[in-house]
Amino acid sequence: VQSSKALTSPYYNQSTSMPAQTRQALGLRGYHPPAVETLDHQQTRALQFLRAKTTALDKYIFLAQLRNSNLRLFYKLVNDQFEEVAPIIYTPTVGEACVEYSNIYPFLAPPGSPDGLYVTINDLPNLKEIIRSYCAKAGLDAPEITVISDGSRILGLGDLGVNGIGIPIGKLQLYVGAAGIDPRKTLPIILDFGTNNEKYLDDPLYLGLKQNRPNDEKFYASMDQVMSSIYEAFPDILVQFEDFQSDHAFGLLEKYQNKVLCFNDDIQGTGSVILSGFMNAIKLAEKKSGVLPQDHRFVFFGAGSSAIGVGKQLQAYFMNHYGLSEDQSKKMIYYVDSKGLITQDRGDKLAQHKVYFARNDNNEDQFKSLAQVLDYVKPTALIGLSAQGQAFTPDHLKQMATLNQHPIVFPLSNPMTNAECTFEQAMINTDERVIFASGTAFPSFVSKKTGQSVTAGQGNNMYIFPGLGLGCLCSKATRVSDGMIYAAAQGLANTLSPAELEQGHIYPALTRIREVSAKVAAAVTVQAVKEKLATEPRVLQLLGQPNPESAALEYVHEQMWDVNQDDHFITAAA
Ligand code: NAP
Ligand code: MN
Repeated sequence: VQSSKALTSPYYNQSTSMPAQTRQALGLRGYHPPAVETLDHQQTRALQFLRAKTTALDKYIFLAQLRNSNLRLFYKLVNDQFEEVAPIIYTPTVGEACVEYSNIYPFLAPPGSPDGLYVTINDLPNLKEIIRSYCAKAGLDAPEITVISDGSRILGLGDLGVNGIGIPIGKLQLYVGAAGIDPRKTLPIILDFGTNNEKYLDDPLYLGLKQNRPNDEKFYASMDQVMSSIYEAFPDILVQFEDFQSDHAFGLLEKYQNKVLCFNDDIQGTGSVILSGFMNAIKLAEKKSGVLPQDHRFVFFGAGSSAIGVGKQLQAYFMNHYGLSEDQSKKMIYYVDSKGLITQDRGDKLAQHKVYFARNDNNEDQFKSLAQVLDYVKPTALIGLSAQGQAFTPDHLKQMATLNQHPIVFPLSNPMTNAECTFEQAMINTDERVIFASGTAFPSFVSKKTGQSVTAGQGNNMYIFPGLGLGCLCSKATRVSDGMIYAAAQGLANTLSPAELEQGHIYPALTRIREVSAKVAAAVTVQAVKEKLATEPRVLQLLGQPNPESAALEYVHEQMWDVNQDDHFITAAA
């Protein structure tokens, strides 16, 4: 390695932990203060510096700078302080960072350590060469995962154009931290097809193309070019679609999911993580209050793309796992939109995606308010995907607690201000009996009964996508099937210990995220083998083994990158 690389490449730079002999051998004496530190020392200082920052955005900026200068130290922090760092490099702070990206970008990435690949709609004819040359110069080996967005629907923040780059970057950092994907194998891509965000179009400091987005025909044709260039450059790469506006998200998935190795996290990752929460909530309700699985009644408040997606997953679960018929399982699910309970005879023309679940058993009665719906349906579970903050009032929650010994309440809307209720409200108004999961991380609740602190379950996609991706890589899968998404949900649900379930948890502690991701990956791997979608010879033998799951888990563990064990930095500098 040349001395310049050892100083400036984030993949090689060790800063103050470069050994004295290396400084000597590379002619770098005098470049550092005399101390030669361990990684732990460096981490202590970095944490101290991070914690001294008073705003979330400042913390984000510091961590981005660290990643772009000293990758090893950055991932040491991600690895050891996951719960503290994840909300900065990912939601909620990454949202704020994206909004501001054009204002902070020049201070994040020193030249020579690019943060991600920027592709404009004008680059498409040369895209294959651009990708190859970017990866070679940026110090990436042949990448195995790319997260790709056009910035058109970033989190709940709308069209952020090129500023959406923060999302692919953040997601891939979680792949590394949560699932042990080698950072040199990850490629964040932002597609700049323009933006319809007037504020950015008028902003002299906005760094993206100042033009409107193309129409659908041009969009899909451009995506065809993008996809074929990516796969020509790297034929086995896994593509994760992220934060495309809803109709394009569904459209792209439909178009590519049976052709190449890809998935959409907003649709499939979300469906999978929420389903996993339901699996454990259903188990808990049965164990704690004797509710039989087939006796559940689910009220979804909100009937948008995510709510319908989750409902369909839930229905499939009752069919596959509990052997209910399509009709039986459909009847367990009720939807409420802005006009009330969705029924076939409501008198308005229902949007296409609402027709399937529209009720026909309401005897012409219509139920407008949520309170009326709760009275009529007497649900065991209430799920919020409406983006209507505080829509679940204390009275609604009390009603759920009267109807059920252990009501299931999932206020899933993001960000926190859109959540249908808080964890505290759900606990207080159900006499602390609620089985709870939210979309946003809520603070722990101190029980009025026991004085103990109770953590809120969070249906966060980061429980699923890193393990799902790792499973795809380990099995060298050719496709991501619905069965693999379902296996990921089941794999996640199985990570809870009986003791955790007993305490009312439906998601595992984030501190165990690497172990959880490994188990999700193992479940995905086994499923890929079963469906004949796996091509890695070593995993193909799994099914013949007495315990394929544990053999898969062992194999997965062997494949995981660990910042504490990477000798790349050391050998590179030697
Ligand atoms: P969407 O497509 O806009 O759907 C919103 C739905 O809420 C629509 O069906 C709408 O009714 C309904 N609604 C609006 N106001 C209402 C009211 N006052 N009463 C009853 N229903 C009302 O949105 P989406 O993409 O599905 O996302 C919804 C929320 O889910 C967002 O906050 C998002 O952050 C969250 N989400 C969370 C996760 C997660 O936790 N992992 C994942 C995905 C999405 P109409 O159809 O009548 O307009
Ligand atoms: Mn997303």
